[in-house]
Amino acid sequence: MNYLDIVLERLNKQNANQHEYIQAVQEVLDSIKPVINAHPEFEKSALLERIIEPERLISFRVCWVDDSGQVQVNKGYRVQFNGCIGPYKGGLRFHPSVNESIMKFLGFEQVFKNALTGLPIGGAKGGSDFDPKGKSDAEIMRFCQSFMNELYRHIGQDIDVPAGDIGVGEREIGYLFGQFRKIKNAYEAGVLTGKGLVYGGSLARKEATGYGLLYFMREMLKANNMELAGKTVLVSGSGNVAIYACEKAQHYGAKVVAMSDSNGCIYDPNGINLDVIKQIKEVERGRIKEYASRVNGVTYIESQNEQHPIWQIKADIALPCATQNEINLEDAKILVANGVKAIGEGANMPTNIEAINYFLENGVLLAPAKAANAGGVATSALEMSQNSMRLSWTFEEVDKKLDRIMTNIFESCQNAAREYSLGTNYVAGANIAAFEKVSKAMIAQGII
Ligand code: NDP
Repeated sequence: MNYLDIVLERLNKQNANQHEYIQAVQEVLDSIKPVINAHPEFEKSALLERIIEPERLISFRVCWVDDSGQVQVNKGYRVQFNGCIGPYKGGLRFHPSVNESIMKFLGFEQVFKNALTGLPIGGAKGGSDFDPKGKSDAEIMRFCQSFMNELYRHIGQDIDVPAGDIGVGEREIGYLFGQFRKIKNAYEAGVLTGKGLVYGGSLARKEATGYGLLYFMREMLKANNMELAGKTVLVSGSGNVAIYACEKAQHYGAKVVAMSDSNGCIYDPNGINLDVIKQIKEVERGRIKEYASRVNGVTYIESQNEQHPIWQIKADIALPCATQNEINLEDAKILVANGVKAIGEGANMPTNIEAINYFLENGVLLAPAKAANAGGVATSALEMSQNSMRLSWTFEEVDKKLDRIMTNIFESCQNAAREYSLGTNYVAGANIAAFEKVSKAMIAQGII
């Protein structure tokens, strides 16, 4: 058996039932084959076994009291996956589906994503199976405080710097930061990113993941003699990433005709009115269905049996910005049959391995998550820089730096794909470029 197969067999044996984690590792290992083949010495130093194993996985109890006085108990996690490039960095996710497998897959992806940004940040992820949906503001606050009562001992501006993810936005970061400050009796602004503007947050952080995705997409299309103007676009989700991906796509002259949430999707042939979406999602925290009752000529399609009706709508570009594995082979076949030209992954691992392969085999350009959605964490790192320097940059300054970072990331993916004669396979390009950087840092730091 060759080295890669040995590592994969061991991974499957040791992590049975951790499907998302195995999937994320398998995708990377499959595409770095040419690099591994060129470096037989990696086997002796167990480089792959080390790179796929988290440095530390912390799990803890989170108890809090709901509005009726009932005590609730949730699981909390922090996976500090790899710190060889800088302090651990990665978001917190609050969603009922959170478990060890999802934390490990997200932490693993984060290591490579952060390396691609070119900034000094290691990879981590955390969260809880707490469901913020339907909770009062006071319940959210009590949960965040209790979560921080344990997390604080594991984080710090030079140790580990969490941020938001699904279910964790500016409101939650505010409560988490307040509790951290109270416990530590110190103002360490750089311990969390995604903070509000009045207490150390960065302009353009909120927009960064969505905008960054479109900067990457712009570069990828340009390299293949296409452009965003005039294209029809589908954006799944209607959270932080989806809203600002839609905004930037519209800015570039594309027409976004559909968005979604976990209940269903809206199809607006005239182009999404983003002000209405922002009012429903950012202000009222409501359901996307309400868009159809406020805007004329809109169809609402309810999701049934885990299906993803949004991918049945004809479009040139699809931007999955909701969650993992939201495009499967069946969805990919429909998208390709409808003439899709490019996929831009705003969410983490939104396309499963079979669907990725189908897109690549059918000449569809694919902007992989760990490169294309790195704008959020890159801007978090810019927030950390501003916190250490005790100053704040303008929106335009941050946005310009973000654009440059995303353009550089695209170039790294393209160069790696060219070096290994992989054509326009930017999935492999991203994995190879990131792996080369992380592995060099690990080798330089010895066996630790
Ligand atoms: P939000 O919580 O702001 O929004 C998530 C959106 O996705 C909501 O519209 C939600 O709908 C929908 N969604 C969540 N789960 C499902 C599901 N199982 N099926 C269908 N829809 C679902 O999260 P973000 O926008 O921050 O994150 C979205 C994705 O982007 C995640 O994969 C995240 O890891 C990734 N990401 C986020 C970054 C960031 O800066 N925020 C950075 C890089 C990646 P509903 O309200 O119904 O649950």
